[in-house]
Formats: sequence, C-alpha cells, structure tokens
Amino acid sequence: MKKQFIVCSAIVITVLLCTFCQENQVVKGSAEHIAKVTGAINDQAILSADANQGDWLSYGRNYKEDRYSELAQITKENVGELGLAWASEVGTTKGLQATPLVVDGVMFFTGPFNHVWAYDARTGKEIWHLDPKFNHSEKNIDLCCGFSNRGLAMYKGDLFMGMLDGRLISIDAATGKIKWDIMTIPEGSHYSITGAPRIVKGKVIIGNGGAEIGARGYVTAYDAETGAQEWRFYTVPGDPNQPYEHDDLAEAAKTWHGDDYWKQGGGGTVWDAMAYDPDLNLFYIGVGNGAHWDREHRSPGGGDNLYLSSIVALNPDDGSYVWHYQTTPGDSWDYTATQHIILADMDIEGQQRKVLMQAPKNGYFYVIDRTNGEYISADNFVYQNWTTGMDENGRPIEAEGARYTDGQQHWISPSSHGGHNWPPMSYNHKTGLVYIPTANQAEAFVHTKSPNDPDALGGGFGGNVSLNNKLYIPSVFDPHPDAPAPLTQSGRLVAWNPKTQSEVWGVDQIGLYNGGLLSTSSGLVMQGDAEGMFSIRDAENGKLLKQFDLRSGIVSAPITYEVDGEQYITMLVGWGGYLAKLHKHVPRIHPGTIYTFKIGGSAAYPEKLPPHEQPLTAMRDGATPDHIGNGWNVFTRFCVHCHPMPGAGHTTTPDLARSTDNIFNNYENIVMDGALSAKGMPGMRGLISEEEINDVKSFIFYSAEVLGEGMDVNDYLTSVAQMQYVADTKVAIKD
Ligand code: CA
Repeated sequence: MKKQFIVCSAIVITVLLCTFCQENQVVKGSAEHIAKVTGAINDQAILSADANQGDWLSYGRNYKEDRYSELAQITKENVGELGLAWASEVGTTKGLQATPLVVDGVMFFTGPFNHVWAYDARTGKEIWHLDPKFNHSEKNIDLCCGFSNRGLAMYKGDLFMGMLDGRLISIDAATGKIKWDIMTIPEGSHYSITGAPRIVKGKVIIGNGGAEIGARGYVTAYDAETGAQEWRFYTVPGDPNQPYEHDDLAEAAKTWHGDDYWKQGGGGTVWDAMAYDPDLNLFYIGVGNGAHWDREHRSPGGGDNLYLSSIVALNPDDGSYVWHYQTTPGDSWDYTATQHIILADMDIEGQQRKVLMQAPKNGYFYVIDRTNGEYISADNFVYQNWTTGMDENGRPIEAEGARYTDGQQHWISPSSHGGHNWPPMSYNHKTGLVYIPTANQAEAFVHTKSPNDPDALGGGFGGNVSLNNKLYIPSVFDPHPDAPAPLTQSGRLVAWNPKTQSEVWGVDQIGLYNGGLLSTSSGLVMQGDAEGMFSIRDAENGKLLKQFDLRSGIVSAPITYEVDGEQYITMLVGWGGYLAKLHKHVPRIHPGTIYTFKIGGSAAYPEKLPPHEQPLTAMRDGATPDHIGNGWNVFTRFCVHCHPMPGAGHTTTPDLARSTDNIFNNYENIVMDGALSAKGMPGMRGLISEEEINDVKSFIFYSAEVLGEGMDVNDYLTSVAQMQYVADTKVAIKD
C-alpha cells in the first residue's frame, strides 16, 4: 500500500514537474512553441482531425469538410452566458472571408490583399503579421469579387496561401517569413486565387478563379516542401490543334462544339470547394461555369461541355481523372459547382452509403455516391424555374425558355449569384441536417447575336467574356417587376435533411448574401448575416438562443476550438465579395474585426460608429442625353462590377455619385493611370477612352442631380435606359 503510494506520488510529481518544465521551456505563442505544434501537423494529424476537437487544422475542419465540432462546453443551456473574450481590428474595410486555423492556442488567418496574421487565440494578441506584397497596378483589373482570401493550409510547420496575383506561397508558421513563392498561372493571364489550398499526402493542391475574364480552369498539386509542381488537371479541353494534356480531355472535347470554344478559355475554374476521402484515395473538386456564359456563343450547337459545373473525382497521387458528375450540363447561367462539398456516411433507405453532398449555384441539393459518382437524389432548396425537375439519372429537365435562345429576355432563378454561393455549409452528425446559407433572386438573361454585342451587360473586368445578363441591376433597388416569384430578393438559412431532400426549418434574412455555418454536437448552429448579426440557434428547430451585433455584414464562417480547457468561438467580420461591393445592409461598414467569444467573456466591444454617408455631389456639366446614356453604357460595362449604383451609398467601394470634387477633378489620373490602385481601383488606359470617361462622369452627375432632387429610383432607371437608347453609340468590348 505504502509502496504503491510512493510509486503513484513519484509519477504525479514527475508529471507535474514535466508539465512545469515544459511550460517554462516553451511559452505558448513563442516561435519555438509554434514551430513545435505546427511541425507536428503531418498527414496523420490531418487524418485524425476528428480525434483532436480542440484544434481547427484545415479549412473545413477535416478532410470531410463537415464544419461540425464535438466541443460541447457551450450548450443550449449556457449559451446565454456567452460573451466577448476579445476583439481585434485588423486595419481594413475590405472583406474578411477566411476560416482561421488554430493549433494549440495559436491562430492563423488571412485578410484582403493576402495579408496573414498569427494571433494568440486566447487573448487576440498579434504574434506576427505578413504582407506578401501584391502588384495592384497589374492585377486589380482581373479581380471580379473583391480582394478577399478564404484561408490557409497548414503542414509540417508551414502555412500555404494562394494569392490574388496567382502566386502560391509557403510561410514559416513560427516566424511569418516566406519560405518559397511560386507562380501558378501563365504570365499576363487573368486568373486569380481566393480559395484555400488543401494538403493531401505532402502535396499542396490549389485551383483558381477567372472564368468571367477568360480563363481555362485547372487545379495543380505542388510539393509542400519545395513548391515543385507534381501534377495539373485541366477541367476543360484547350486548343484542339494541340495534344491534350491528359487522356480524358479527348472524351470531354466531344461534348464541346464549334472552332472557337477554347479561345475564351472555356471557363471551369476551381475556385473554392475541394474534399478528400483517404479510404477511397479520391480527391474531389468543384468546377465552375463556362466562358462565355451563353452556351450558344461558347459551344454553338450545344453539348454538355465537360467538365463545366461538375464535381470531378481525381486520384490525388497523379491528378488523373476517376469520375465526374455534372450538375448543370451545358451551363448558360454561371451555375458553378464550386460550392462547398461535404463527405459523409449515412444510411439511405436501409443501405449504408458513402455520400458526397453539394448545394451548387443551380439551386439543387445533391446527394451522390462518392465511390463512383452515381446519382442518389436531388431536390431544390430555393425557388428555381430553370428546370421542371430531375430525370432518374439526376440530369436536370430544362424548362422551356430557360436557355434564352429565342432573343427574348428571360427571368431565371436562381440568379448568377446562385441559390448558394461560397459561404460554407455545416453537416451536423447529431441532427443529420445540413445547414445552408441560401439566396433567392432572379436574373434576366437574353441571347445576343454575337458575344460582343454591347446589349449584353457584362464582359467587364477588362476581359472579353460575354455574360449575357441584361438589365440586371445589382443594387439595393427592387428587382425588375417582370421577375418571377419570389419577387423579393432575400436570403434564408435552411436546415436541410439530405435523406428526405426536404427543408426541416428555415429563417428568412433580408440580405441575399450571408455568412457560412458552424454546428456542434451540443445542438447549436451559428451564422453571421448581412445585417451584422451573429446568431446562435437550436440546431434542431432554429430557435434563436443568442445574438450579437457585430456592426458590419458578415460573410465568413465561425470556427470553434479549445485552449487550456476552455472552448472559444471565433469569426472574422468584414463585409466583402461581389455583392458586398454593390450593396450593404448596415448603416455603416465598420473596420474589419476578428471576434472571439467564450462563456463568461466580458471584453469591451469596438466602438459602434454612427451612420455616415458622403453627400451627393453638386457638380454638373449640362451634358446631353446621348452623353449621359453612353455614360450609363460604359458604367454598366466597366464600373458596375465594383461600384454600387450611383446614389446607393458607399459600400466596400465608393458610391461614385458621392465622390469629392478632388476625385472628379482627377478622373484621368485615377481611371486611366491607376492613381488609386493601392485601394483596389485599376488603371484602365487602353480599355476606355477619355471621351468615355467624360460620359461616365456626366452619367454620375446626372444621377446625383435627379436622385438629390428626389426622383423615384425606378423613374431614374427608366430615364437612363431611355438615354442609353438615345445614345446609340455602343461600346465595343475589347478584342
Ligand atoms: Ca462565375
């Protein structure tokens, strides 16, 4: 007895001493500590992420990307006591979209223009900050959707980030210093990277975006240690006069028609979702839309245009094709299938199935067999009118007119924003539900005689891809009265049962574009929204349990982790993305801030700033209707991709009708020469003439004048449309 006591005491003392000496030797957050804990993130650590609930090691939390946590200190019962642990402004008003990574109390996250931070996850204290320098004057013009980044990958002591300018960099997690820096895109091309890389068996895998600007989609694997390229998979066939890069492209090419389909790149960019099944050794990618949007222009004569809008399974060892499932054959609506992919095993009609789930832009929720790509089921999770349903193989049955080939304008739902865009979903293993941030909106499409017909709005960003979405007013204004039901554009958090393909509960939201989801085994589901509210709900029924006002619109997804036995929830708050440039749902966009909560947290909130709006300009130039109308033409071709409608108020980009006199007097420097390129405004010399700049100015002066006098918004739009008709001077898209 006594001997046992002595032995036990010795063990206890040794354990205590070791804990004590370790604490003394390695301080949490020190370079030595970070090197040690991130250095331990190897293949096994990522594979067993579910056995390590305290950390958040990869973008979707695990290879299944389910964004589900079994940390259960925060419950339905005590969530009322949840309070702010810390908040930290990161010095930007551009969008924060990233999912942070956390290992042993050290947090890493990214922000606009590819800034990266390491923080102490317990206190919000900055450990290091990296600005990897981004070439604004060359790249701004290629960025369709703001300057955001969605996150990092972590492996063996290094962090990996894809950059807006196409670089992939490796960062020493301990010091924030760049280790290697490689270019993943051809020189002078229009690609950009916003998505998070994934790590599989020592390879960093990254795609890119740019289908609206003329890009051919691909995904590439690089050696994590050296940055050397290991393989590349192209999602669409290239120049038919050249050999195919991989054999399956010969098959894919049979689904494309005409001689020119490859000249705009074809599209199919892999800009977001990826997932991995280690047992099947399959790596899944979500593939984007076609370029041009209208298949009649892209592939005259039709065809499914593989692998656009598809989920493709690859062998991660060599990047070879294994199977594909196409969600939108022959896409004509920007219906990307790049949206979040979740892997799960579930009982379906008495059979245990290995499934892959996705809610792509086209409005259907898909459950497919991830071993072979076989269709299991699908149903629409938002209003849709482009199909009349699915056939037995999961091929959409297109509704009459949906392809808008008759020259008439057709209102199609979902819009090109999608029934669901990139903000991640969450699959809760307890409730069996998938939580989806959805959007209801219609958009008008019309087929034009040629892809270069200026009647088709779009094709901006300095590229030459026709978008064929006409009269789409991406603003705070109501949608067109001819738009089909639902007549209001709105968001909805949907709790979806993937087995029955039906909504279990939902919550309507004012904004179309809301944040991603996190759910827990303790029965919570959480989401930030366009109005800046962070809401924690009962995952079973949607009942609101706790809400925080975080000042600015939220698009990112929360994470949860545990440090020193305490559970935290962290989320980045910063309005940003394509729609965020065009409208806002808070009185004022606040500085980007990272917020962290814990039970009993009582930290002070950052100051809530009063609403503020620059006055409408009083400058006038007495321009004639044809100049104003032409200015509207030019505005809708080049400016509307980033700037809100004149008069709508500042968003993440300025309302041009509220510029200062100083800005108006320097239009040539700013618009032609890129004087404000560090703020994101591209220089557009060669794309736009001096006369066109003056016409844009006239249109903006006119807008400020009539809106300032109280003209009704719809009357205003009608009047500029009439002047556009008068103008008759069409703006040719750059060849
Ligand atoms: Ca797109």
